[in-house]
Amino acid sequence: MILEKKKAFSTFAVSKGLRSTRQRDIILDFFLSTHQHVSVEELYLKIKATHPGIGNATVYRTLKLFVEAGLAREILLHDGQTRYEHIMAGEHHDHLVCTGCNAIIEFEDETIEKLQNEIATRHGFMIRSHKLEIYGLCVNCRK
Ligand SMILES: [Zn+2]
Ligand SMILES: [Zn+2]
Repeated sequence: MILEKKKAFSTFAVSKGLRSTRQRDIILDFFLSTHQHVSVEELYLKIKATHPGIGNATVYRTLKLFVEAGLAREILLHDGQTRYEHIMAGEHHDHLVCTGCNAIIEFEDETIEKLQNEIATRHGFMIRSHKLEIYGLCVNCRK
């Protein structure tokens, strides 16, 4: 899976005429090995431990590039923070986002997916992608 994602990114980079850089490769490796919803800061701190030469701004710009390449997805938290996760075409899930502790819970529901398609069809609309983020309090924060 990781290899496929790397290939997908290099195809994107070539199509964009981007020169491959070592820093970008390192950031991609770290990002793909993270199975969480990470912020720029979190990813930056992880990388910094072994690669102090890579700055926060580079991590930020590179993550934006991954989003553009369709390799990453942004999740908006209620306080304006953004988290990133890596995805592949064909992979899909939605999120419950806790406004208390910023926990992100993943879910996938066939009924919701089907309903979205029906709504789009009703409006003659062609769906390219969608993103469902539901905000509220998680089970711990409700206590
Ligand atoms: Zn919570
Ligand atoms: Zn997710």
